[in-house]
Amino acid sequence: MFDAAETKRENSRVSTYLFRVVLVVLKYQLLINGEWVNSESGETYQRVNPAEPDEVLGEFQKGNAVDVEKAVGAAEDACEGWAETPAPKRAEYLYKAAQLLTQQKEELSRTMTLEMGKTLADARADVQEAIDVAYCAAAEGRRLLGHTTPSEKKDKFAYTVRLPIGVAGLISPWNFPIAIPARKVFYALVCGNTAVLKPASDTPICATRLAQVLEQAGVPKGVVNLVTGPGESAGMALVKDKRVRVVSFTGSKETGATILREAGIKRVNLELGGKNPVIVMDDADLNLAVNGVLWGGYETTGQRCTAASRVIILEEVKETFERMLLEQVRKLRLGNGLNADVDVGPLVNKAAQDKVSRYCEIGLSEGAKLLAGGHVPANLKGWFFEPTLFTDCKREMRIAQEEIFGPVVCLFSAENLEDAISLVNSVDYGLSSSIYTNNFRNAFVAINKLQTGLTYVNSPTIGSEAHLPFGGVKHSGTTREGGPDGTAEFTELKTVYIDYSGKLQKAFLD
Ligand code: NAD
Repeated sequence: MFDAAETKRENSRVSTYLFRVVLVVLKYQLLINGEWVNSESGETYQRVNPAEPDEVLGEFQKGNAVDVEKAVGAAEDACEGWAETPAPKRAEYLYKAAQLLTQQKEELSRTMTLEMGKTLADARADVQEAIDVAYCAAAEGRRLLGHTTPSEKKDKFAYTVRLPIGVAGLISPWNFPIAIPARKVFYALVCGNTAVLKPASDTPICATRLAQVLEQAGVPKGVVNLVTGPGESAGMALVKDKRVRVVSFTGSKETGATILREAGIKRVNLELGGKNPVIVMDDADLNLAVNGVLWGGYETTGQRCTAASRVIILEEVKETFERMLLEQVRKLRLGNGLNADVDVGPLVNKAAQDKVSRYCEIGLSEGAKLLAGGHVPANLKGWFFEPTLFTDCKREMRIAQEEIFGPVVCLFSAENLEDAISLVNSVDYGLSSSIYTNNFRNAFVAINKLQTGLTYVNSPTIGSEAHLPFGGVKHSGTTREGGPDGTAEFTELKTVYIDYSGKLQKAFLD
């Protein structure tokens, strides 16, 4: 259960108590210019526990365009001072934030499980990722590398330097409630930008906690602002505001396309969805592949942009692999993520449950064969869905092409590696891929030909590390987050020429 006393201490602006037997509904606020405030409209909404939808977790501000305008104004006012703070000093706030997150890890993880539904072990990994990202981003404070290069002229010096862009509008999804907002905020800040964060409406508590951690770390007022509220109003206001110089968005490709259309001329960095494949070759270690598909397909209830949703198996081993995988899928235990023996938690909300149900019906109508699951379980009242396995899937089916974002894995067969690669590349998405093989030629051919931003060999499609670049190709995105490459998202690369010859030197003429 959500510990009311504990939360009351942490959420510094608790203002409403609705006493009902023992339940206290906590009211959360927006962070604008260092102040915790209500939305200008006074409108609020509630979020409930997806495993126990009767349990209200809090009341949250429905921020709107006016709130966003104020938040962007605060971020703009803070820009100059923050940009002038030396990058290694900016980084010190992130080291402090990492320490605070570490101290709060267990309690934050429990809050995340209540708010979003992922299992406690999975939630701990989410918080750990945020901690690791904080250290990685902080390390960039002592690098922020540009480069020097020889000039083609005598007595002339050329180099590049990374400068802040300005106000960053950060829009995040709910499936990594701390890790993704953290990745955006930490990199934006260390690069010298100020930020307005608009988190997903399903996970406002984790985003509020992140803003509180930065406040506790001493980040100056206005440098980080938080506006909760609907994407179509608050999110879109952020995207359209001309003072916002860079938008960093993670979410669905449909929303990404809308943002790209509406943003006007500014930097727009998109991290979008996936339809991630695993290829299982006939020389693969099948036990290893089964474990990889189980982990990649059903962890986080399949609600990962990198979740394995297509498994392409060489005909020679298809029957054996299918039998081995089915045996394991049937053993997955569904339930409240706070219970240690649960493998698969609920979906995030009712709309997600309806969407997954609909895709199962579509799969059946398209002729795919259901091996396991396919239904909302009758014995659980939260937004659960049975771990589902389809086989005999074909590339033109909708369940083979579209992102389902639930615990649904589709099996395909392929004649050979070329056939498998062509199946992988037959979708619009291109985020993560994996190949299980013990033949290094197969591995290298796949690495070079699979159209995805990430490729794993003999490991699942999930599991990226904080210090390596993360991102997709095709409709999966336009950017790379994380590590030294992550600074490109939030900096302008300025080119500098210094001529100390004392003469006019003409480029391309002299
Ligand atoms: P979503 O696109 O519905 O929402 C993402 C964010 O955008 C939310 O904060 C939402 O409020 C906001 N938003 C919605 N409409 C908006 C609009 N018109 N203008 C501005 N903002 C708007 O996505 P979701 O359901 O929160 O997340 C799931 C999706 O995110 C999946 O497609 C998943 O694959 C993707 N995802 C991608 C990555 C990645 O790094 N590539 C990581 C996690 C999730």
